[in-house]
Amino acid sequence: MSTAVPLKGRVLLLNGSNWEPLAVITVPRAINLVLAGKAVVIEQSGHFLQTIRDKFPVPSVIALRTYINVPRRQAHWSRKGVLVRDNYTCIYCGVQPGALVKGKVLSKNDFTVDHVFPKSRGGKDQWTNTACACYTCNHRKGDKLPNELGMKLKWEPKTPRTSYLVIAIGTGPDAWKRYVEIHHD
Ligand SMILES: [Zn+2]
Repeated sequence: MSTAVPLKGRVLLLNGSNWEPLAVITVPRAINLVLAGKAVVIEQSGHFLQTIRDKFPVPSVIALRTYINVPRRQAHWSRKGVLVRDNYTCIYCGVQPGALVKGKVLSKNDFTVDHVFPKSRGGKDQWTNTACACYTCNHRKGDKLPNELGMKLKWEPKTPRTSYLVIAIGTGPDAWKRYVEIHHD
């Protein structure tokens, strides 16, 4: 059974050959690219688009047939971007929304942006200096460096290719998440 026509849905467009995420586009534009032979379907959404004569499977991810050279854009740092980049996972204890902590189920609102090198000591709002932390770990860490408290980072914070894509992908379907590409500064 197909569900309602997802004309307002979004499709992740990947570059040719390296499948690097390029943009999030509309369903009609994605179908046009596929019908014009400029892109191929990588993942289906499970939805269908019914016209008078035809029925098209609606893609969730498509890739261009040929590689296009895109200048690497600098990702703008944002708190929301850091939380989405880290998938709302605490970099110190690994806890995520839905976990039961001290009798309370954590929601996304219980997660904060921690400055690994504290702002009070000159730490900057940079992708590589910030990470998602649960309230408990952020509070415990305070103005200290992780190694001063014996706290370990579970991963190294990295710069995403574009902050807008990280946010778009972070709020998109799970099928998109494997295509997020994270880069060093
Ligand atoms: Zn934590």
